[in-house]
Amino acid sequence: MYRTHNCGELRLSDLNKEVVLSGWVHKSRDKGFLVWIDLRDRYGVLQLIFDEKRSSKDLIKNAKELGREYVIQVTGKVIERSSKNTNIPTGEIEILVSKLKTLNSSKVPPFTIENKTDGGEELRMKYRYLDIRRNSIKDKLIFRNKVSSEIRKYLNDLNFIDVETPCLIKSTPEGARDFIVPSRMNSGEFYALPQSPQTFKQLLMVGGLDRYFQIVKCFRDEDLRSDRQPEFTQIDCEMSFVNQDDVLNTFEGLTKHLLKTIKNVKVDKFPRITYEDAIAKYGSDKPDIRFSMEFGELNSIAQHKDFNIFNSAELVVGISVPNGNDFTRKEIDKYIEWVKRPQIGANGIVYVRCNEDGAYKSSVDKFYDQKDFSNWAKNTGANKGDLIFIMSGDKDEVRNQLGELRLEIAENIGLRNPNEFAPLWVTDFPLLKWDEQSASFHAMHHPFTSPKLDQLDLLKSNPREVKANAYDLVLNGNEIGGGSIRIHDKNIQSLMFKHLGFSEKQAKEQFGFLMNAFEYGAPPHGGIALGLDRLVAILDGNESIKDYIAFPKNNSGKDIMIDAPSSISKEQLDELSLSLKK
Ligand code: ASP
Repeated sequence: MYRTHNCGELRLSDLNKEVVLSGWVHKSRDKGFLVWIDLRDRYGVLQLIFDEKRSSKDLIKNAKELGREYVIQVTGKVIERSSKNTNIPTGEIEILVSKLKTLNSSKVPPFTIENKTDGGEELRMKYRYLDIRRNSIKDKLIFRNKVSSEIRKYLNDLNFIDVETPCLIKSTPEGARDFIVPSRMNSGEFYALPQSPQTFKQLLMVGGLDRYFQIVKCFRDEDLRSDRQPEFTQIDCEMSFVNQDDVLNTFEGLTKHLLKTIKNVKVDKFPRITYEDAIAKYGSDKPDIRFSMEFGELNSIAQHKDFNIFNSAELVVGISVPNGNDFTRKEIDKYIEWVKRPQIGANGIVYVRCNEDGAYKSSVDKFYDQKDFSNWAKNTGANKGDLIFIMSGDKDEVRNQLGELRLEIAENIGLRNPNEFAPLWVTDFPLLKWDEQSASFHAMHHPFTSPKLDQLDLLKSNPREVKANAYDLVLNGNEIGGGSIRIHDKNIQSLMFKHLGFSEKQAKEQFGFLMNAFEYGAPPHGGIALGLDRLVAILDGNESIKDYIAFPKNNSGKDIMIDAPSSISKEQLDELSLSLKK
């Protein structure tokens, strides 16, 4: 037997027990005739004591030879510590060791296995298995498991069944590039890895399974941003005989359940806001509503004087910064510089200070009077002591810029508390978006999303105006899920492909299997997919997803531990018919 107990469970109440323990040497302290070793495993750390007086000389000699991260097994007795450590659960006891066996030696690890380590990110990724020994990574993986098992429980109780869909498939258009896998047996032909199981889950509905879910890897070959991984995990779900409300209520229930069981946070009914309103009020389709700072549009009350910058703008729009009148001139200037950076690309900010005495002081005092400022304050919801920031320009651009500024300020003044949770639904997304590069419409969500059926006529006359039965779940300014009611009618699906610029032949080649299935009694259906990596990170109060993934890729999409991707041999290339022809 390797152990009778783990390193985290023994307490004072176990005094005098004879125990066997196994684990890693975390730290050791050598006082000559006394040696203390902290023994660590997944469950905790426990102090071992080797005492020359109470055991053999050989034993203490062997203990002195143990290096960091050696794997050992000890037998000993639980005794009370003379100086207790209240910082760890096992801190009142120690194990007086009578037997020691080295199970494995270890090289000196390249960084310290401590919560605060001296290893940089690349080094830690190269030795990820050592990084996982650190509490800060290990606890995150355990946390992830807690979330995913709650998800499984919840969905199972609602009759969802977990079905595995294939990984070697044909392209599923989610708007990203596919990862491609060459087929050896079918020379010159390729599989694509799924960007999502979208078409398969729809086919499962045609197959009558009624409620499907899968916690599943998806693959998208996109340019990497710091918080994106080329392979990531979705909680992928689909339901039959549902309308939009049914789907939203089900997954609102799941999200509430997670917040309650994992965070002990109760949230009320999630607000629902249309895409159009989200953009107009927050400049974002994934608004952070932990704080207000809603946009106030000022065109009608700011374009009546001689201030040309406002007069020539498509939109004049402001936000009120709570207690922003406390900002120094320098702080205001910093924000003005911040919006001028190329990443934001604005020309500047007009500001109005709302003094405690009710007077206003602004950067455009030359053009406007106190009455104007008071109207602006009303529209932006500014009170005494607040500060109004106003931007103007092209409608889409300026909303986006002010949306970024809103988040930046909120972050700086502490309004984005990671322990507060503000979920909402964003609905009624546009069905299509214009792609300048290909000069054609693309599906905003994916081509299987149903348009609002009463707007089908608009598809021909004014496609930009058509709304989709599509929705996103947003949490603390992050899109954590998205889905839609699907098209289940073959003719509407053909019409959709036509509007997306597919010829009949192309549509048949790529999605003939789905169109065929729609000829055999496809039920009305809809679903959603939530991003597990991000959801877990946010629930744990973090924005970075990397540490919640056991073996993540670095920012260039590489796994530096196993050295992937890497080149393959000429023989393999030949076998796959991929050799470069001379
Ligand atoms: N397949 C979609 C996605 O990956 C989700 C859905 O529509 O259910 O975004």
